[in-house]
Amino acid sequence: MTRQAVHVRALVFDSFGGPLEVREVAAPEPPRGGVVVRVAASGICRSDWHAWQGHDPDVVLPHVPGHELAGTVAALGADVANWRVGDRVTVPFVNACGACAQCASGDQQVCARQTQPGFTHWGSMAEFVALDAADVNLVAVPDELDLPTAAALGCRYATAFRAVVHVGRVQAGEWVAVHGCGGVGLSAVQIAAAAGARVIAVDIAPGARQLARDLGAEHVIDGSTDVPPAVAGLTGGGAHVSLDALGAATTCANSINGLRPRGRHVQVGLLPAAQGRPEIPMDRVIGRELQVLGSHGMPAHAYPELLGLIAAGRLDPRPLITRTLTLDEAGAALAEVGRQPGMSVVTSF
Ligand SMILES: [Zn+2]
Ligand SMILES: [Zn+2]
Repeated sequence: MTRQAVHVRALVFDSFGGPLEVREVAAPEPPRGGVVVRVAASGICRSDWHAWQGHDPDVVLPHVPGHELAGTVAALGADVANWRVGDRVTVPFVNACGACAQCASGDQQVCARQTQPGFTHWGSMAEFVALDAADVNLVAVPDELDLPTAAALGCRYATAFRAVVHVGRVQAGEWVAVHGCGGVGLSAVQIAAAAGARVIAVDIAPGARQLARDLGAEHVIDGSTDVPPAVAGLTGGGAHVSLDALGAATTCANSINGLRPRGRHVQVGLLPAAQGRPEIPMDRVIGRELQVLGSHGMPAHAYPELLGLIAAGRLDPRPLITRTLTLDEAGAALAEVGRQPGMSVVTSF
């Protein structure tokens, strides 16, 4: 174990929806089987906003948000076999236990005993973060990939990759509609276009629609209009695959209602029960034999496929990062998440 500070700077909130302030907190200790990572980059994701708003029952106050991170291993807990201090790493936001039935079947993203930095314990909007089960969850970041870009792989880019490729099973030539073009939606646009799909991006913000075009969307639709008929008109009857990348009653309904018969809806954006549950048009689901699928992050063992495509230049998360911030600027950015197109990443702590 290396020597580290007793106190570290972190972004803290003491009440849900209350002030977000940077202050000194006790340095995290590496758990058995886990590590402490010195955070080099931490993305600001909509789920951090949900945690701050009190939508996640796992969050206990006071709390440090942040789950989309990359950095270097600073300290090892007992029983870590595969990692050394100084290793450059990222981690899926679902930290799996490695021992339950889901983990045994390779589905670590739905682990029964998962922890999540920034939700079940303090997260990465801080100089250091503790992570569980390092041998199950850490992902080595190749030298040629910078850590701010690698941070995006901890949540939104990897989540989009699994949603498009593994869960949506998008094929070349298929029509894919992406509803909501924040970080995960824009990632999905790029990944689906790279897979040879014809992508329609939907968002209410002109800046987000322009970025979606730049990332490979063939058509864009203003999300404040009547979206499903517009999707049907462009695609000759509806999309083959459609993602709700925002997580809202409207985007969820638009996604399902814009599908052709036997189409696949993938729910990616969080829909916390605290915000009210959306109505799913089950008459349409049965009448058209639609598939309604959930997608929740991506397990660490699936990262080599994604990293290989990035190394080969087939995918490039870099253009998605539109702002780098200091920790002192992170609270304001978290409070207004979604107002700026693209991804904001904290790179100075
Ligand atoms: Zn996230
Ligand atoms: Zn497990």
